[in-house]
Amino acid sequence: MIRLSKSSISQAEKNAVMNVLDREYLGMGSEVKQFESDLSNFFGRKAICVVNGTAGLHLALQAIGINKNDEVLVPSITYVASFQAIKAAGGIPIACDVLKETLTLDPKDVEKRITKNTKAIMPVHYSGGVGDLNSIYDLASKYKLRVIEDAAHAFGSVYKNKKVGGFGDIACFSFDGVKNITSGEGGCIVSGDEELIKTIEDLRLLGVEKDTENRFKNKRSWDFEVKNQGWRYHMSNIMAAIGIEQLKRIDSFSSIRQQIAKKYQIALKTISDLTLLSIDYREVVPYIFPLILPPRVNRTQLRSDLEKKGIETGVHYYPNHKLTFFRNENLTLPITEEISNSLLTLPLHTEMSLSDVDYVCSELNKSLKAA
Ligand SMILES: *Cc1c(COP(=O)(O)O)cnc(C)c1O
Repeated sequence: MIRLSKSSISQAEKNAVMNVLDREYLGMGSEVKQFESDLSNFFGRKAICVVNGTAGLHLALQAIGINKNDEVLVPSITYVASFQAIKAAGGIPIACDVLKETLTLDPKDVEKRITKNTKAIMPVHYSGGVGDLNSIYDLASKYKLRVIEDAAHAFGSVYKNKKVGGFGDIACFSFDGVKNITSGEGGCIVSGDEELIKTIEDLRLLGVEKDTENRFKNKRSWDFEVKNQGWRYHMSNIMAAIGIEQLKRIDSFSSIRQQIAKKYQIALKTISDLTLLSIDYREVVPYIFPLILPPRVNRTQLRSDLEKKGIETGVHYYPNHKLTFFRNENLTLPITEEISNSLLTLPLHTEMSLSDVDYVCSELNKSLKAA
């Protein structure tokens, strides 16, 4: 079976975890401090670690002051994590349409949906590309909005010669098992806003003031103050130990992912009724390889055909505004609705070979001809 996605764990990650277990300090301590410092060097500004990417989004939203009735503009095509994080912070997710070329936020649709209650925009870097991020930042400065980039797919990607996460307002990454790098579960928040980072450092440890400082000295806070609602969202040393080793492998991971995606682009170009995203894989490190099927194809049938041939596929994503909890019947998002039943994600991970890519493409071609 060619898996849709998977982690790649070497002996180094296993040794690092054993080392933490042997030392018997499993919580948040020196490994987390080290991972944060490595990530901060990677981005060129402060990064702080949390228990998963969703927690990172939640904390970033709380830290910018999202409150009851505050609206956050977000693409409907995203993992439900983006929507749930906005709800968890007390805000209202406002589903927006996407550009067909990249499936990232359509700035024109975003501007149409800005109201006096809008507080922030959450662009989602779908599959690893940021789309028209400059226009999103232009809107944010025109209407005085904060930007929280859901960069869960984009670890390692570059935009206009700058690392994603290394510029802009706030970016949140995920280190879930199948993302570009993993720490088991995990995530980080990156920002140039020092005050915001300080706030989030406390919020991730139940709001206990300066607990991060103590834990990084392998101490605990016994005599402390709490002024805000906080959460149990910190990262453990076991997770950070994995993350530190994975970060050392990022250049190799990135180039393998980029090679696979480039090969897909070339091999699939000749299948005329498929629509590929318009992405430059010299800059983007792809987390997934999605495409748009011709409307005549029954996706469920095609996916089961491919599965019989040993090819696992995925669907990223069912539009959030169609889910019961987030349903909005009055909303029309033309591009989202046009493509959502036709999205298909092909296998992409760092242990796939280029001949696996050839096999996937030729079997996909055969199945499409038969469909
Ligand atoms: C993975 C993901 C998240 C959440 O990250 P977790 O670490 O799984 O909590 C958020 N947004 C998107 C688009 C994701 O793919």
